[in-house]
Amino acid sequence: MVSLALRDVAYILPKKILLFILYQVFFVFLFFPSVQAGELICQVCQRKIHPQVSFVLELRDGSRIKTCCPGCAIYQQAQAKLKVKAAFATDYISGKALKAEEAIFVEDSDLDFCSHPAMLLTESKTPLAKVWDRCLPSLVAFGNPDDVRKFQQKHGGHLLSYEDIVRERQK
Ligand SMILES: [Zn+2]
Repeated sequence: MVSLALRDVAYILPKKILLFILYQVFFVFLFFPSVQAGELICQVCQRKIHPQVSFVLELRDGSRIKTCCPGCAIYQQAQAKLKVKAAFATDYISGKALKAEEAIFVEDSDLDFCSHPAMLLTESKTPLAKVWDRCLPSLVAFGNPDDVRKFQQKHGGHLLSYEDIVRERQK
């Protein structure tokens, strides 16, 4: 009888530990959908980060802020008066990091990576017009002027430098 009871305990304990671990994993997945999908989330607006247009602000205190797009980062930089040491855009074609000062930005092309495509509805199902979005107009960065030309022919937009955008977002 005793040996049976001990065997039961030995059987039950690991099972409980296993259940505890499964329970923890379940909650991580439940509360962090980003972990579930293996996606990165913008540290400013909590939207999904698109690898082709992500942006990184390196602050003077050594911290880094990774955002969904250049617009989101530069708006935050201007509005929160962040002390930025360095800023890095992503080259749309190669996916490689570029110094923001050296990148060519195309603003307001027909590509929009961040905003939700579905129209928002009120409780009475009246559609709401989009008035303002921190990630709009969209910004796409390039390192190579030839890539910019090709992109503009297809998607439109106008050219801006990092300094232009910072100045614009401060208004
Ligand atoms: Zn964002």
